[in-house]
Amino acid sequence: MSHIFDLFGIYVFDEAKMRERLPHPVYQKWKTTLAKEDALDQVTADAIAHAMKSWALEHQVTHYSHWFQPLSGSTAKKQDCFLEPNQQSQAIARFSGKALMKGEGDASSFPNGGLRATFEARGYTYWDCTSFAFIKDHVLYIPTIFVSYNGEVLDKKTPLLRSIECLSTHATRILNKLDMPHVRRVTPMVGLEQEYFLIDKELYHRRNDLLQCGRTLFGTMPPKGELVSEHYFGSIPKRVECFMKDVNEKLWKLGIYAKTQHNEVAPCQFEIAPIFCNTNVAVDQNLIMMDILKTTADEHNFVCLLHEKPFAHVNGSGKHNNFSLVSDDGCNLFDPGEQPQENIRFLLFTCALIKAIDLHSDLLQTASSCYSNDYRLGGSEAPPAIISICMGNHLESILLNLEQGNYDITNFSQNKFQMDTLKDIPKDTSDRNRTSPFAFTGNKFEFRMLGSSLSASTTNVVLNTILADSLKEIADQLDQIENAKEITTTALSICQNIIKNHKRILFSQDGYSSHWQEEAKKRKLFHASSYVYTISSYMKKENIELFRKNNIYQPQELKARVNILYEDVISSIQTEAHVLALMCKQHFIPSIIKELQFYFTSSQVAMLPYCQHQIELLTKLLETLVSEHQLLTAQLQELPIFESKEQEAYYYNDVIVPQLKVIRKILDTLEIELSSSNYPFPTYEELFSSIY
Ligand code: ADP
Ligand code: MG
Repeated sequence: MSHIFDLFGIYVFDEAKMRERLPHPVYQKWKTTLAKEDALDQVTADAIAHAMKSWALEHQVTHYSHWFQPLSGSTAKKQDCFLEPNQQSQAIARFSGKALMKGEGDASSFPNGGLRATFEARGYTYWDCTSFAFIKDHVLYIPTIFVSYNGEVLDKKTPLLRSIECLSTHATRILNKLDMPHVRRVTPMVGLEQEYFLIDKELYHRRNDLLQCGRTLFGTMPPKGELVSEHYFGSIPKRVECFMKDVNEKLWKLGIYAKTQHNEVAPCQFEIAPIFCNTNVAVDQNLIMMDILKTTADEHNFVCLLHEKPFAHVNGSGKHNNFSLVSDDGCNLFDPGEQPQENIRFLLFTCALIKAIDLHSDLLQTASSCYSNDYRLGGSEAPPAIISICMGNHLESILLNLEQGNYDITNFSQNKFQMDTLKDIPKDTSDRNRTSPFAFTGNKFEFRMLGSSLSASTTNVVLNTILADSLKEIADQLDQIENAKEITTTALSICQNIIKNHKRILFSQDGYSSHWQEEAKKRKLFHASSYVYTISSYMKKENIELFRKNNIYQPQELKARVNILYEDVISSIQTEAHVLALMCKQHFIPSIIKELQFYFTSSQVAMLPYCQHQIELLTKLLETLVSEHQLLTAQLQELPIFESKEQEAYYYNDVIVPQLKVIRKILDTLEIELSSSNYPFPTYEELFSSIY
């Protein structure tokens, strides 16, 4: 009997299949394209397209689709059937190199932030041959980039590919100058841990807030709430196990190494993490994974919530971005080795990162967040909303010593953890600090701010770009040095300077403590009151220049993106406000009236002291709810005149969101005061217990 692992990658046209199915010169040509040494020609593309089509037809595929990542953050596709008539009017399956390499789509039907007018709506998709084609639901998916007729970038993949190149260029320059002259490429590697909630489909459909907004707009934790931590790493419910098995099998067949799965902190919350790979592929795979989580949940009568904070007072969901740099000879540049204090490469790349994060924490925060992530960050659960780097006490002290010009630290010996049955298990050079938004975890950095619903693309665009910029400066400095012997001393003095100027971003203690808030203020670290106020950081003069000179975004492309970010905030809040207003009017207000009627049915009952008290309380709640509801409706209808999208987004954030919170408070009191027969929606308790 064959094992499920034998089916690994059957639905992905990967390197092994290309080697097997392509004529050798064609395969070689594809490899040189991959190594960025040459562009793909038409003849090679024709041969690859033919092999791809034959393979797809063997799997009963009927259509092919250029799959791309528009600025809305999700994915989009346009499907075409392989079937065409030939000259003799016979039906044949055709797929040319041209159809593989280039497609045409309607650019105006995707968000473009004002870059495209509908009358010039042509947009083109171009094959990204660095990410493999795959089969899903009888369709051959071809990963592509999406640009307008004039070449303006309309997607999230193109800037990512550009940022990867830029980072590789400057990292390679440094390695060549150090002791690795043979290195040609450096690749950023990413492993994305995806958190999500599962809830019962039937209950989900009874809550319009979940349905329309992806989160609950009212609701409180059940009294048993404190016990939820028992759920973490506890046994996974049977129903969920079946779901996970299906998800894993689908991912494996698509060549995705789904590796780790476990319960998360909150009830009904879980995590899945594949093995890390190059950033471009990791981002693509995460988008596929999010789609598979949703569709498979549906097949199991669940709904998968990818929202950052579906439930108030319950842990939210993130997408941890584990990040490292690997050279083409397999060296991890963030590996501290046995003697980190003597590892110039490690020190230099770590210092470059420290500087990049300190200079651009505002950009990184914008790129990793969204309106809904505001509800997650800053509490005592997810990372604090202030970006700092945790190197761990040991490495931090090495860096601080280095600042003092002290390279000779008491010999660092690898801590070892002893177990009777196992030989020495090396311990990581840093301890786990789960409160840090940006933590060094042994040989990689884990960035925990990214929201669970977002594509990981933009975060990595920014991370790559700011690091590339920081590395470029270092490479320029090292280029001045002719004498190889001076490289080490120059490199160390560069590190020394960076630590001196940027050590304020280092923080290895408890990020949840109130002391840190105070301390961060003293250090003048970037701290935005909410996400919407971070968006303008893209428009700072120096940041426009940063992206322009590194060829990531042209100024008009950046402006378009910023417009879309503001539009997203506006439309998310608008939807929440309208949904809540309607739920109040159609359900909550009538429910209170019904409850009052229940007390009034008998005048004798109404006279009882408890009932008197309830009548009074509910009458008050009714009055308050009606007046707050009226206020919200007025705020939504009588809008001020806005001079820009930015201003409009601030209005929704500063006026409407607080009003939603006021109403939520009333509804949460109501949940306790209404009898269960008159409470109109499934409660948190019902939602949470439904999957166990
Ligand atoms: P955690 O303890 O944070 O929950 P997990 O084991 O769930 O960790 O996930 C860690 C993620 O980091 C995985 O996706 C893993 O493949 C990835 N990872 C491991 N090493 C590296 C590396 N060198 N570069 C990038 N990602 C890595
Ligand atoms: Mg993690």
